[in-house]
Amino acid sequence: MTSRPDTLLVVDDDPLICDLMIRRLSREEFHISAVENGKSALDWIEENPVDLMLLDIEMPGTGGLEVLTTLRKKYDQVQLPIIMVTGKTSSEHVVEALNNGANDYITKPIDFAVVLARIQTQLSRKHAEEALRESEERYALAAVGANDGLWDWHFRTNRIYFSPRWKSMLGYEANEIGEKPEEWFRRIHPDDVNRVHADIAAHLEELTPHFEGEYRIQHKDGNYLWMLGRGIAVRNSKGKAYRMAGSQTDITRGKVVDVLTGLPNRVLFMDRLGRSFARAKRSQNKSFALIFLDLDSFKLINDSLGHLIGDQMLVAIAGRIETTVRSCDSVSRFGRNHTIARLGGDEFTILLDDISSIEEATRVAERITSELSEPFMVNNQEMFPTASIGIAMYHPGYKTPEEILRDADTAMYSAKAIGKGRYEVFDSNMRANAVARLQLENELRRGMERQEFELYYQSVVALQTEKIIGFEALIRWNHSARGTIPPSEFIPVAEETGLIVPLGQWVFETACQQARIWQTRFATTPLSININLSARHFLQSDLVEYCRTVLDRIQLSESSVVLEVTESAMMPDPETAIEVMHQLKTIGIKLAMDDFGTGYSSLSYLHRFPLDCLKIDRSFVSRMMEDDEIVRTIITLGRNLGLQVIAEGVETAGQVEKLSQLGCEYAQGYIFSIPVNASEATDLLMAKQFPPMPASETTMDKYSMLTD
Ligand code: C2E
Ligand code: CA
Ligand code: CA
Repeated sequence: MTSRPDTLLVVDDDPLICDLMIRRLSREEFHISAVENGKSALDWIEENPVDLMLLDIEMPGTGGLEVLTTLRKKYDQVQLPIIMVTGKTSSEHVVEALNNGANDYITKPIDFAVVLARIQTQLSRKHAEEALRESEERYALAAVGANDGLWDWHFRTNRIYFSPRWKSMLGYEANEIGEKPEEWFRRIHPDDVNRVHADIAAHLEELTPHFEGEYRIQHKDGNYLWMLGRGIAVRNSKGKAYRMAGSQTDITRGKVVDVLTGLPNRVLFMDRLGRSFARAKRSQNKSFALIFLDLDSFKLINDSLGHLIGDQMLVAIAGRIETTVRSCDSVSRFGRNHTIARLGGDEFTILLDDISSIEEATRVAERITSELSEPFMVNNQEMFPTASIGIAMYHPGYKTPEEILRDADTAMYSAKAIGKGRYEVFDSNMRANAVARLQLENELRRGMERQEFELYYQSVVALQTEKIIGFEALIRWNHSARGTIPPSEFIPVAEETGLIVPLGQWVFETACQQARIWQTRFATTPLSININLSARHFLQSDLVEYCRTVLDRIQLSESSVVLEVTESAMMPDPETAIEVMHQLKTIGIKLAMDDFGTGYSSLSYLHRFPLDCLKIDRSFVSRMMEDDEIVRTIITLGRNLGLQVIAEGVETAGQVEKLSQLGCEYAQGYIFSIPVNASEATDLLMAKQFPPMPASETTMDKYSMLTD
């Protein structure tokens, strides 16, 4: 075998793929370089030794096929193995490439386990062949040198020839495995075997261009290995398959690494955790901590911007976590000290080994939180993801490693519940809270089925005239056993579980219907209805269409609807937020920024949000009599931007007077009205300002009651 590392060249016009490949492959002791187009590839190879090339088919300018053809005039498949990289759909290119001398191909999106296995197969073939060229014993040894096991299945006799390598991969001597298909299928993991059968059947029925599938198969020692199986059928003139041959590649190593980020995956992490746990159990002075990190707004980003961007984001975040943890300590990715893993989705874990105090862990968590608060550039957009972090420290009371993971997870949930973008250290009270939260989630579902929700309405008042210009709809949950539950308790749970989507739709439709009723009844004033929108709802791609359809059905004018959004709902992904807001504006819906001043410092974005209204958060109003600086600033800001300003939480006559002096036009608060149910709000409207329309009986009744 050669002692120098093999040199690979990646040719791809996508810088992200080049970057990923370089980072992933350089860990495998390859020398790796990348160029971004065909021309540079041809230039590069003139000057530098290359053992294997990964060549993108679709590139602007000199495409991959052209590069391939040029190169094959000079180098054969052994001198320069070329693996084509192609999009899933372009199978005719693949055929052409293989006909023109490509050694193999891989498809995007790139699965590194597969890439690695194919590279290794090609390289070991290359090395074997090179050796063979010297010794003149070509064929026999080529098969020995290849990493893949080969099989050849004759359907007429139903016998499969398994190559010696196929058998030795599973730990068997050549004479220990026969020729029955069962030799293969009975060793496949029970969870995988049906899928493999189905994949083969699909190819035999010509539904797929070849058979390809990953499965676990049992080694002689009892452990399972991950294999990539590939094969192709040979057909008679009628197209019926009579034989099928293929290969089996060991991709086990790739399977413990997260393909997207290159971090250890759950399997490897649990293994590491298990070892640390055993070590700590054995010796008194060894301890460790576990950090559980979950991104706060990732689902939103994924749903609104698509998985591709979501993936880029995860890669960027993984990179940042890694550098941070590394800089906190002398760490190596697979090193002894700390393991950073991607557990799945947007969950990451960090195992801090050999630490003696919880402070060491909280320091790491602090650093991560602060590093993540720097904006990320993804796809030329600025994003502000935050993460909630839970920390659990080993103590001898733990019986299994899973318990520590569970506690770190619970602490993470608690951090999320308290306010996101922060960390919490596990304590046993949290377990009770987690149980309560789960219970609330179930009850929320039941509550929706039983229609236990009701809208309350709080008037928005013009300060000059004290007239009601509209209402804000506020949801209430009349729980059958626990009485009224305030939104602050259940909205966060509804947001996390996605129940906010149907709930939000119910709010929107109910509130709009109520507004329509009031408008018909009190025809003289154009009452508006303010509706709170959660982030989840706000970034739904069909929001605009949905609003239009509902308003059309209810026959309520778009201009009567004010949607209230908070800064924090928009900041994870301001660009999409701005886009949706513009669409809403286009159909005539108005937009208010809720709780203004409490969120991120979104001032730099404020002029870009197409708003109609700012709502001053009630915390500023309640402090106003001692210090009116903020309220004054917001009112000025609103005026300069041409926005309506509503002060929230106005409770005293003093505040009313002060706000009028400062030039604030509108207000909401207990001094005018607490939130009340629909019928009380109707009474309020009548009492305050509107002469009733004499038509309906109920109106007459109410009116006569009022005048009694
Ligand atoms: P918000 O949008 O800031 O709503 C104003 C909150 O302030 C309401 O609390 C209201 O009852 C309260 N409030 C109004 N005037 C005064 C006052 O003078 N003094 C004091 N101390 N409080 C006052 P509520 O109804 O408990 O709602 C809390 C939050 O829950 C709302 O804050 C809003 O963010 C959310 N929410 C309410 N309904 C919905 C809904 O239908 N959908 C969504 N996504 N969120 C909702
Ligand atoms: Ca609001
Ligand atoms: Ca508010």
